[in-house]
Amino acid sequence: MSNQPERTCIICKSKKEKSQLFRIVEKDGIYVLDEKQIVQSRGQYICKEHNCLNRLSKHKKIKVSIEDLLKMVNLLKKESKDYLKILKAMKNSQELVFGINMILEEIEKINFVVIATDISERNNRKLIDKLKEKNISYVHYGNKSQLGEIFGKDEINVIAIKNKKVARGLIENSK
Ligand SMILES: [Zn+2]
Repeated sequence: MSNQPERTCIICKSKKEKSQLFRIVEKDGIYVLDEKQIVQSRGQYICKEHNCLNRLSKHKKIKVSIEDLLKMVNLLKKESKDYLKILKAMKNSQELVFGINMILEEIEKINFVVIATDISERNNRKLIDKLKEKNISYVHYGNKSQLGEIFGKDEINVIAIKNKKVARGLIENSK
């Protein structure tokens, strides 16, 4: 559905949307993770999958710093949680609200909030102050493009859930 450009995994050669791939860039002969995929340098792409990361760690030509390999594995673990899947499954249910303004407008109906990990500091503050004031649970999960993907947008800062039961399930999940 989304119109993100596709890139090829250097390990398994499959083509995927950029959001499903890590980007690494060369810096003095060693590759480092370009988490936001914005570094102006020739990049390589790898699937966000254990298989491809394992094979990457043994690659003869592409040397990735161990810190960045670990970072990628940790990001992988995070992504295997179910928030994105659950949100995706609910996207047509009228129970979701996205974007800070909409959420602040409907704050009285909201029971749980998923905030992108790469939201701006300013928006994060604004949002969290309000959520705390209203005693609403929240989690930082996924990045703006992953949250955006759910609604076929480039980027979304934050998604909120109105349905009490679903919210309760997600809160339990977050522990
Ligand atoms: Zn791959």
